[in-house]
Amino acid sequence: MSKLIDGKAIAAKIRAEIAAGVTTLRATGVTPGLAVVLVGDDPASQVYVSMKEKACRDVGIFSDEYKLPAETSEAELLALIDQLNHDPKIHGILVQLPLPKQIDADKVLEAISPLKDADGFHPYNVGRLAIGKPTFRPCTPYGVMVMLQETGLDLAGKEVVVVGRSNIVGKPVALMCLQQNATVTICHSKTRDLAAKVRAADVVIAAVGRPEMIKGDWIKEGAVVIDVGVNRVGEKKLVGDVEFAAAAERAAAITPVPGGVGPMTITMLLYNTLEAAKRFASRATA
Ligand code: NDP
Repeated sequence: MSKLIDGKAIAAKIRAEIAAGVTTLRATGVTPGLAVVLVGDDPASQVYVSMKEKACRDVGIFSDEYKLPAETSEAELLALIDQLNHDPKIHGILVQLPLPKQIDADKVLEAISPLKDADGFHPYNVGRLAIGKPTFRPCTPYGVMVMLQETGLDLAGKEVVVVGRSNIVGKPVALMCLQQNATVTICHSKTRDLAAKVRAADVVIAAVGRPEMIKGDWIKEGAVVIDVGVNRVGEKKLVGDVEFAAAAERAAAITPVPGGVGPMTITMLLYNTLEAAKRFASRATA
């Protein structure tokens, strides 16, 4: 039976370090500030936003919520972003996705100052990640990397298979593993013989969004499995993209769903906000 990679415990440890970092920065007169922008009334987005705000409060980060109606125009949202880009109390800006149809999400993400890009989605920061000089890293993949680090695994020379190539998880996590000298294979819906690719992997990172599609018997004995997928089955049950019980029989270490990658995402958002505030403080004194 494999070792469980406990996202809640790792997140708690890092949040304690972030809280200490916030205290140190506040003593210099700078309170890290995160603006959270929510457009419309999507219930899941409302839950995420309130979780993010509570997490900020818990570590001493100031958070300011901007709730805009569903019919907000792109121009109005861009005007708010511009105002936040110039607000000295705000060091990180997060626009909760998805946005209503009339708003071009790419345009909005590009309007956020790269210096305040707490989500790490701005093309400037994506480009820096691609050239191996990351500044703000997207939160979910960054959380995955912290979890891998906690297992003590050295990725150099390892075969990493990432299933999923989205801009928010699959692609950036693949770049981060490459940066740590892994040999990375990115799989997607057009990949032939996914099972064979996964069977060869020392590390499997699943970010698909299909309940238990990666079968336990595809997992190599002793592999490390990180399951980013969150899939609701039935009324209440959440499962990942990996067939957990069968995979856990073979893996050396595996993340549960829930309680795995989930708690790490908000943790890395807090981390990025603190980093942005520290950079702001050092620019102010330079
Ligand atoms: P997307 O829907 O944007 O991307 C899914 C990817 O999976 C695509 O690249 C797609 O390929 C690929 N895919 C779909 N079907 C198959 C298949 N049969 N075989 C191989 N690959 C396939 O999802 P996200 O990246 O946004 O999210 C992935 C999962 O992670 C979801 O369950 C989401 O809820 C979860 N998630 C969890 C977070 C957390 O904090 N725990 C945060 C973010 C996401 P193609 O590109 O060819 O279409």
